[in-house]
Amino acid sequence: MEVAETIAQVRSLVGAARGRGKKVGLVPTMGALHTGHVSLIEAAVNDCDFVVVSIFVNPTQFGPGEDLEAYPKPFEADLEICAKAGVDLVFAPAPEQMYPAQNLAWVTVERLTEPLCGRGRPIHFRGVTTVCTKLFNIVGPDVAYFGQKDAQQATVVKRMVADLNMPLEIVVCPTVREPSGLAVSSRNQYLSDRQREEAANIHKSLEECRRLIEAGETQAARIIAKVRAKLQEVPSMEIEYVDVVDAETLESLEKVSGRVLVAVAVRIGAARLIDNIVLETGG
Ligand code: AMP
Repeated sequence: MEVAETIAQVRSLVGAARGRGKKVGLVPTMGALHTGHVSLIEAAVNDCDFVVVSIFVNPTQFGPGEDLEAYPKPFEADLEICAKAGVDLVFAPAPEQMYPAQNLAWVTVERLTEPLCGRGRPIHFRGVTTVCTKLFNIVGPDVAYFGQKDAQQATVVKRMVADLNMPLEIVVCPTVREPSGLAVSSRNQYLSDRQREEAANIHKSLEECRRLIEAGETQAARIIAKVRAKLQEVPSMEIEYVDVVDAETLESLEKVSGRVLVAVAVRIGAARLIDNIVLETGG
């Protein structure tokens, strides 16, 4: 496994692989790798001949007062995980490599970035789409892998790639969970043991919501109220949003119909956690 810190190194190594006829896969991450990331790497190793993992805590997707400084950076452990998983190249640039000057060119996706996490994190998706564009331009992958855990991010990136004719395929992999149902996340490290147990309630509330919809409930307001009530069983959990939206347009629904995304963001202590489920409903 090679480790590159510069764009020139990546271009040269990927160029050589491409010259040997290799299909190139990219897994963009912010490091602090866990089983969720590993599932994306495994999908890439399965489908591609040359797998690149980027590890970069992208400053432009963090707003003021967010956890940019505190974000965990266990770099040596990350490299070990990548090597074990069969990664060919880790790209771990310094911020100055990715942003050598004040950034003036941004990639933005309209509408899809406004609801859900976009409300509380107004510059977040602009940072995500811009850094993904940079990574796609640097690596030139045939396929890039994203997680369903960040459903809005996956939808936004897919739309960016389609609208801007970027020459790669986006694959979205299922959410990996702890045995308790809690979605695995680098930010779970901010939780105490007790908070981690309490955080399992997020998944429980979404599963209750699934049962409710499967039993025939169609009114989004009633579904949201039920999820909120279940979340509030943990008093320390602060709800940022619970929403029932169309899985493609991310627009709020009054009545569930078609492919529906139920998405939740909460705060527990220092951690902001998100989770979601997608349901195929009638109508
Ligand atoms: P991050 O390092 O948090 O930016 O995540 C990098 C990629 O891993 C994103 O595409 C995430 O959606 C994905 N990811 C994070 N957690 C999970 C999880 N529990 N299951 C599947 N994918 C995940």
